[in-house]
Amino acid sequence: MPENNTIDFDRALAAAEFVCPACRDSNLKARVLRVDAMSLYRCGQCASLIYDPFPSIDYTAHTSPLGIRNYVEMSASIDTVARNILRVVPDGSIGRILDIGCGFGFALDAVRTIAGWEAMGFEPSQYGGSGRDQLGLDIIRDFAPLNPNPHCLYNVVHCSEVIEHIHDPAAFLAILTSYLSEDGVIVLTTPNPERINPTTARSTLLALLSPGAHTILFSDEALTRLFEEAGLTFVAVDKSADSTLFYASRRPIEFQTAEGWQGKILFYLKAALSRAQPGSSLAVGLRYRLFRAAIDHGMYEIAEQSFDPILADARPRVDDISSLTQFAGRWPLCIAASTYYRGMLLLIHRGDYMDAAEHLHAAHLLCAKKIEIDPATAGVEADLVWRAKYHEALSLENSGQHRKAMSALDAIDGRRLAEVPQDLEAGIAELRKTIEASQPVLNAASASFFRNLHN
Ligand SMILES: [Zn+2]
Repeated sequence: MPENNTIDFDRALAAAEFVCPACRDSNLKARVLRVDAMSLYRCGQCASLIYDPFPSIDYTAHTSPLGIRNYVEMSASIDTVARNILRVVPDGSIGRILDIGCGFGFALDAVRTIAGWEAMGFEPSQYGGSGRDQLGLDIIRDFAPLNPNPHCLYNVVHCSEVIEHIHDPAAFLAILTSYLSEDGVIVLTTPNPERINPTTARSTLLALLSPGAHTILFSDEALTRLFEEAGLTFVAVDKSADSTLFYASRRPIEFQTAEGWQGKILFYLKAALSRAQPGSSLAVGLRYRLFRAAIDHGMYEIAEQSFDPILADARPRVDDISSLTQFAGRWPLCIAASTYYRGMLLLIHRGDYMDAAEHLHAAHLLCAKKIEIDPATAGVEADLVWRAKYHEALSLENSGQHRKAMSALDAIDGRRLAEVPQDLEAGIAELRKTIEASQPVLNAASASFFRNLHN
C-alpha cells in the first residue's frame, strides 16, 4: 500500500450512475471522497459507500512477510474478535466453528482453547499457511466454496473484515449460510461507513477506506436486508466500534453475559504463549497482548509476570528510521504500544515516576515514528501518541519535576485538536492547574488528583 495516500472529501458534487451492489438501487450516486485515483460514492437508498469502479486484487499473492509480522506482533485484535464470538458460545457447550477469511487463525485458536470447540478455517493468503503451521490449525488455503457437504454444518460461522472486499455480497452470504447449522449464528464484522468523515483520524480513515482493497462499506440497513434475503431473519447489530458487528441467524439469538470474558481471554493468551516457539514473532505478539490485557483489566501482578524486556525500549533511537522495514529490523512491531504500557505499569502500579516518564517519553517518540512511516496500520499508535505525552507529564509532575511536566503539556497544546483524544482534555486542563498550584513542591491536591485519576 502506498504510504502517502491523499484523501479529498468532495465539495464538487460529482456523481455517477451505477447499480448499488448492496441494495440494487440504480439512481445517481453522489461522490463522497477521492482517495488517490479512486472514487467512493454514497448510495442514496441504503447509505452504503461504494467504490466505482471496484478495485481488484489477488489475495493469494497479497502478503509480505513484514505484513504478517505486523499482524501477528501488533495489529490483529485477538481479544476483540474472541469476545465477539464468545458472546454466542455458551459455557460448557460442544460445538464447531468455521472462520471464512480467518487470516492467521487467532479467533479459531481462541475458541478452540477456551470452549474446546472444533475449529476450521478458509484463508487464501499466506496468513492462512502461517497460522496453520504455527498454531496447528485446520486451515484450508483457499477461498470458501458453497458447502459441498450439507451434513457438515457449524454452530458459528465467523467472518471478520472480509465482505467489504467482495464483489457480489449476496452470493457471498449464500456461501456463509450454506455452512450454518439450523440454529447456528453468523458473526460478521465490516467497516462502519458512518465513521467516514473529515474529522476522523487519518490512520482510522485509511484503515476503513483501504483504497485498492475494499469495495463496499455496508450500512447496517443494507446488510441486515441482505441477511434477511439469505433466510437469516434474526439480526442483531452493534455499532460501538469502527467496524459494525452483526449477528445473524434463522432462530432468535441467545447472547451470553460478557461476565468473565477477560479471564477467558487471559487464559487463552497464556496457553497460546506457552505453546509458541520461544523468541518467535508469534511469541512476542502473544506476550504483548497478554501484558496489555492484564494492565487494561487492572491485573498488575499478571502484567509484571508476563513482561519481558523485549517489549520496551526506554531509550529508542528513531532519527535514522525512515521505513517500516528499518523499524521492524530494530524492534518488534508492537514496541510503541508495549513501551507505552510498560510506562503505564511503572506509573500506576509501581509508582516509579522517573522510570515511567522515561518510558512514556520513549513511547511518544516510537508512536510518532510508526505513524510517520506507516500511517495505514498505525491506528493504535495514533490513539496512544498523545496519551503517552500526557502521562509523561503526569509522571514528571509526580516526581516533582514541575517545569518539565509543564513543557510536556505545552507540546500537547501545540497540536491540532483532532489529534488529541477528547477524553484527555479534562485531564490535561486539570493537570495544568495542578502543576501551577503545586510549585515548588508537590502538594496534597495534586496527590489526590493523581489517586482519583487511576481509581
Ligand atoms: Zn444501496
